[in-house]
Amino acid sequence: RTVAVGPHGTHLPVSTRAELGVDHIACGEADSATVGAVRALLAGADASVLPGAAAPHNLLESPESRPRPFPNLRLEELAFPAYDLVPTADYTAEVISGGLPLPGPCGMVLAARGCTYGCTFCHLPFGTKMRNQPLDRVVCEIEAQQAAGLEFVFFLDYVFGINRVFYSELCARLEGRGVGWVGQTRAEVVLKSDVAAWARAGCQGMWLGAESPAIADTGVHKRVSEAQIEEAVLKLRDAGITPFAFVLLGLPQDQACVSGRLVDWAAKLPAWFGINQLYLRPGTALYDELAPRYNGGVLPATWREVQEVTRRYRAAYPIDLDQQQQRLIELPNYLGNAIAPVAG
Ligand code: SF4
Repeated sequence: RTVAVGPHGTHLPVSTRAELGVDHIACGEADSATVGAVRALLAGADASVLPGAAAPHNLLESPESRPRPFPNLRLEELAFPAYDLVPTADYTAEVISGGLPLPGPCGMVLAARGCTYGCTFCHLPFGTKMRNQPLDRVVCEIEAQQAAGLEFVFFLDYVFGINRVFYSELCARLEGRGVGWVGQTRAEVVLKSDVAAWARAGCQGMWLGAESPAIADTGVHKRVSEAQIEEAVLKLRDAGITPFAFVLLGLPQDQACVSGRLVDWAAKLPAWFGINQLYLRPGTALYDELAPRYNGGVLPATWREVQEVTRRYRAAYPIDLDQQQQRLIELPNYLGNAIAPVAG
């Protein structure tokens, strides 16, 4: 029998099962759902959507009747990853060389799951509660990836530094290990943190969820000011950490995006930036609010309808988002234009 896990199946199980042609969908966090599904199937479960009983299609795809997820396993219970089974050097991400980003072999580590901020456009596969991994485990995972030949890792934590005690201890334990890393966080957290300690721990680059200079006024519950973003970028740079900014085009009523000021702001930002256009994602509050408006008054029941919702949202946006994206791509500090110096 075949089982699919992950956010797609968790949010639209019937459509995901039909598209993938699998026997079962297991809902919940991918690792806990995998373990839960194997246990349930061995115990005789046969529902198409696990752990709950299958519900009629039209009921299942509405938020009120989302199937319950498998409960999360305690992080201490999860098996240690078998890095030796994976060709680690084949996985690449932005690594920093001479202060510039370039693609290179990069591992991955997650010290804490979840994010307590409630930005309504953001999909949080690990939910809104923070769960920290034991620090011994985090350090062992990094050591195992170093032993497999990697010198660089990406911290997948959504808001690096959010818990000052936990991340200070983590950084203290990373000092002197010779590992370089890039992470991601928010501007206010940078402003409250000892980023020199991050740098001593090997931090060479940090992504900020900057999104737009007018993000605080867009009603998506991300109250970060333009001044905070700039201050955080400069603070990182001064600590020797290469700053990166996520830019998000097409937020609802984003006056900076609509007027084009966003492009001038990005051009002057002393940071590399990457671009995304807003996607209305199942599992987010913004999707629940806006998707019915672009789908005949009801939430989509299929992934095709989900795609259509975003296409219609973008088409109805007051400006041409593709055109604005093109203007951004032409800026010298767009990440895709980074050119690392040739060695030697
Ligand atoms: S955008 Fe960042 S801060 Fe906001 S909810 Fe998502 S991960 Fe958390």
